[in-house]
Amino acid sequence: MPQPPGEKYLPMYNLQQQYIEKFLYDAVAASDLIDMRWQSELSSIAPRNDGVSVRISSPEGDYRLDADYVLAADGARSPVRSMLGLRLKGDNYEGRYMIADIRMDHDFPTERRAFFEPSGNPGGTVLIHKQPDNIWRVDYQLREGESEQEALREENIRARVTAILADIGHTKPWELEWWSIYSANTLCLDDYRHGRVFFIGDAAHIVPIFGVRGLNNGLADAENVGWKLALVLHGEADQQLLDSYSPERRGATLDVFANATKSTRFMTPPTRGWRLAREAALSLSLRHEFPRGLANPRQMQPYTYSQSPLTPYAGRDSEFAGGLPSGSAAPNAKLADGSYLLDRAGNGMTAILFCEAEPTTEQTALLAQLGRIDRRFVPLVVTSQQSTAAGTAIADRDGEIISLFAAAPGTFYLLRPDLHIAGRWRTAVPDEILKTAKICLGSEMP
Ligand SMILES: Cc1cc2nc3c(=O)[nH]c(=O)nc-3n(C[C@H](O)[C@H](O)[C@H](O)COP(=O)(O)OP(=O)(O)OC[C@H]3O[C@@H](n4cnc5c(N)ncnc54)[C@H](O)[C@@H]3O)c2cc1C
Repeated sequence: MPQPPGEKYLPMYNLQQQYIEKFLYDAVAASDLIDMRWQSELSSIAPRNDGVSVRISSPEGDYRLDADYVLAADGARSPVRSMLGLRLKGDNYEGRYMIADIRMDHDFPTERRAFFEPSGNPGGTVLIHKQPDNIWRVDYQLREGESEQEALREENIRARVTAILADIGHTKPWELEWWSIYSANTLCLDDYRHGRVFFIGDAAHIVPIFGVRGLNNGLADAENVGWKLALVLHGEADQQLLDSYSPERRGATLDVFANATKSTRFMTPPTRGWRLAREAALSLSLRHEFPRGLANPRQMQPYTYSQSPLTPYAGRDSEFAGGLPSGSAAPNAKLADGSYLLDRAGNGMTAILFCEAEPTTEQTALLAQLGRIDRRFVPLVVTSQQSTAAGTAIADRDGEIISLFAAAPGTFYLLRPDLHIAGRWRTAVPDEILKTAKICLGSEMP
């Protein structure tokens, strides 16, 4: 996967979900703000205009809990969704896959590799990738008409995995750890918000497995609603900020659907036409560059919130000859001291102002005004020359940051708390910048 040179994190980390859950639990346990209640089941929910009442059943008895807001993160079969009479809508795809986790010692490349019609699974597709602890995940497509019951029998799984491993030259012993069967779905709610109840993760959307976006998208939902709710609950933003959650995150789901549908059809062509197109793309890819992108699962880019109510001046993008558009996750840059540009951003709004040496009086006044609107505001000043400003400016003497942001002296970027670009201006337009900041803080309507 491509990795821009200034990015702090690798484009993909492949970790089993139990590790993610453990890290999340460790973070919850370390926080005084979160009360973790095991063996507690939400058994009913009653939303009102000013709050939500829920009933909890637990081994220690049932009780009522009154909440300002509820995040329904209760999974694909979401009881909260059913209790509120809401339904997921969308499509189910053809093609069933067996997924088998095995333990083996092998020096096969760690990256995820796809095999189309290999001898170990004639007429089907196979995916192989390595996970931590010497666990390898083998996904193989079941043949048309193959019985699920037969396919799920352990001896059949062992025989098929043995044949697939022979294709990659593994004849040594291996252990079968876990298996399951799945098919691809693109299903989501029409609206991820229902009054004071917000649906996040699989409760809101079910995406095909080929895009590896299920849990990833759930975490992005949580982050999105998290910073907005924090501002509202701290009284720093008006409730209307929460209106942007559903369009932003449902937009991200629809984008995943579009990409994952392409991948799903490539993995499991539903018609003769799709099969022919895949064969053409694969055979031409051996000698030509142009068809290779067709097999790209497009799973390494965060979603761009360009249609969001929080990016009211996305039209300003046309002033730029490059860089990332409004709504994108801001690019990162490695600084001379080994730290990263975005390490310096705050947890409120952040401005990145590009100057030759010092901000002008007008620019300084604009930064001060932003500081008055948002008490968490952090200004970052990037200078192309040595600055005399007391050590706070970031020197960009080789011009790397300027070129990453397609900036010139006077260019202004405004970042949201989640480090997505709220807007960018080739030359600062104070009214638009202040309005964007107020919209992101929920104090002004888009
Ligand atoms: C085989 C497989 C492979 C996958 N691979 C990937 C991948 O590579 N990358 C990726 O990003 N995603 C992947 N996913 C998807 C990912 O697992 C899900 O998207 C993710 O688990 C969804 O998280 P969630 O928190 O929304 O729901 P869940 O993980 O389902 O959690 C829901 C929780 O709510 C609890 N709950 C339910 N009802 C109640 C109630 N009434 N009261 C209280 N609690 C309740 C449940 O006990 C559960 O703990 C994969 C999924 C499968 C099946």
